[in-house]
Amino acid sequence: MSDERPDRTPATRRDGEVARPSTAHLAPPAARDSLIPAPVQGFGVTFAQMFRKVTTEQYPFEPKVTKPRYHGRHVLNRHPDGLEKCVGCELCAWACPADAIYVEGGDNTEEARFSPGERYGAVYQINYLRCIFCGLCIEACPTRSLTMSNDFELADDNRQDLIYTKEQLMAPLLPGMEQPPHPMRLGDDEKDYYLRVPTTGSAAEAVVGEKA
Ligand code: SF4
Ligand code: SF4
Repeated sequence: MSDERPDRTPATRRDGEVARPSTAHLAPPAARDSLIPAPVQGFGVTFAQMFRKVTTEQYPFEPKVTKPRYHGRHVLNRHPDGLEKCVGCELCAWACPADAIYVEGGDNTEEARFSPGERYGAVYQINYLRCIFCGLCIEACPTRSLTMSNDFELADDNRQDLIYTKEQLMAPLLPGMEQPPHPMRLGDDEKDYYLRVPTTGSAAEAVVGEKA
C-alpha cells in the first residue's frame, strides 16, 4: 500500500493567488443571429419599459390593500354583548409551531365574568418576533375567539413592543357591547352563546314557542 497522498496543491499560482483554469480550449460563444448591435438591443429593452404600466406603490402615503383572506395581526373576538370568546384553553399555544403564544387561563366568578363559560383568558400574549403567520393557531381555536386580521404593519424598533398583550389583541367594543367584566346578557349559560339562541325580539319568541 502506497503512503503517497494525493497532491492537492493547485496547479498554477500567481503571486500567491490560485490562477483560474484556462478556457482557451472551450468553444467560442455562438454568433448572434440579430444584425442589431447588442448595445442598441439593450437600450431597446429600457425604452420599451417606459411604456409599460407603472407598478410602483406609494406606500405608506397610499395604504396597501391586501387580499381579503390575508393572514395579518391576530384578533381576540367578542360575543355581541362584549364578553370575550376566549376560554383560556391554550389550544392555540399548543398548536403554534413557533412557540409564539402564551396563555394563562383564569376562573370566571359571578362577581367578575369575562366570558360566558367557566374560564377565560386571563393572560394572553403573542410574540410577533416568533410568529410566522401560518394560521395554525386560529384553526385550533374551538370558540373562533382567535382570528387573523389584514393588518400587516407590525414593524417596530424594539423587541418588547413586538410582544402583543391581550389588551392590544382584543377586538374593539362595537355599539351594543359592554366592557367586561359583566353578567351574561345573551343567555343563561355558554351554550346559549355558542348556539346563538336569541333572548329578545321576534326570533326569541319563536324559540320559546318551539320549546313550549
Ligand atoms: S400564526 Fe402560526 S406562528 Fe403565528 S401564533 Fe399562530 S400558530 Fe403561531
Ligand atoms: S384563543 Fe381560542 S384556542 Fe386560544 S386559549 Fe383562547 S379559546 Fe383557547
